[in-house]
Amino acid sequence: MKPLIYDFDLSALTEIVTNWGEPAYRAVQIWQGVYRNFWNAPEAFTPLPKNLRERLAETFTFQPLTPTLKLDSRDGQTRKTLFRLADGLQIEAVLMRYDNETYRSRSRRTLCISTQAGCAMGCVFCATGQMGFRRHLTSGEIVAQVMYYARLLQEQGETVTNIVLMGMGEPFHNYDNTMAAIDRLNDPQGYNFGARRFTISTSGLVPAIRRFAAEKRQVNLAVSLHAVEDEARSAMMPVNKKYPIAELLAACREYAQATGRRVTFEWALIEGVNDTPETARKLADLLQGLLCHVNAIPLNPTRGYSGRASGRERAEEFRKILEARGIPCTVRVRRGIDIQAGCGQLAARASSAEAA
Ligand code: SAH
Ligand code: SF4
Repeated sequence: MKPLIYDFDLSALTEIVTNWGEPAYRAVQIWQGVYRNFWNAPEAFTPLPKNLRERLAETFTFQPLTPTLKLDSRDGQTRKTLFRLADGLQIEAVLMRYDNETYRSRSRRTLCISTQAGCAMGCVFCATGQMGFRRHLTSGEIVAQVMYYARLLQEQGETVTNIVLMGMGEPFHNYDNTMAAIDRLNDPQGYNFGARRFTISTSGLVPAIRRFAAEKRQVNLAVSLHAVEDEARSAMMPVNKKYPIAELLAACREYAQATGRRVTFEWALIEGVNDTPETARKLADLLQGLLCHVNAIPLNPTRGYSGRASGRERAEEFRKILEARGIPCTVRVRRGIDIQAGCGQLAARASSAEAA
């Protein structure tokens, strides 16, 4: 199988092109065709001579993702795409439009992308966790999800404004490929997507958080917390048995100190499980003095988990308790619930349908 064009960075591409006996600027032309014009077929590279276009076609694959299902939420603000990879596995990526938030100076186009097919972490409330681990995505397969949507938005005169690595998979379990993808999308000669507009979400792999802190990247960090006590968290998120809450929060403090950046804690509000006033008070105590923000989102129901989403009042009370104790908290609206836009829900369904 031919290698994927998105799996190469500019210097690797330059090496290939110069080995063909071509001048280095041809590599830059290809790079810009891929990352500025979003061309995804060798024929599209019309500024190149024909023999070079043929060379491209012989050497690289340009389309690693086949969209197999596209779903738009009823309000038209959320688009979810299910993709088939070259080996037949499925992943998904979601585009969320935010137009009506008047407190924002501009509208946002946030893309939520996957880093693995499936996930090994086994969080019980998560559709991706319920399907188990299939494989890591290559950096190019991660990049390709962004290019797919960049092209789609370009047709409407729009651009991606934020990228969150919160689709299927645990990005820190696939650390190198995830960072390579971010670096590639960040390249000033190419897509030039600012590091500060990425957010990586992790279930709490402590050594990776430390490494990430030491690298002092400008990328935002989100940590999925969901519980204040080890017993409860381990029951929801097996990763907690290896990296319990105290260690996790110590790593988060290290990160905030090293980078001066705010950590986002994600909190899926589950009725009667982690949405009580007592839990909110304990959470505020745990997070005291840490540069952070809590992102609470009512649980998305999944097949394999019986928990229910907290109601609006409960969520609001939770938020107020945190805020009263100096911990900023936002309660998010669930997006695209009618199209199963929650993490892994669609691909998990597709793969269980295949298995059936
Ligand atoms: N593996 C990473 C990123 C992908 S999951 C992580 O776990 O952080 C992205 C977010 O969705 C995480 O905060 C995760 O806890 C949350 N999530 C997963 N399933 C959910 C569900 N059913 N309802 C609400 N949030 C969910
Ligand atoms: Fe994996 Fe994140 Fe889902 Fe947990 S919540 S199973 S880490 S994708």
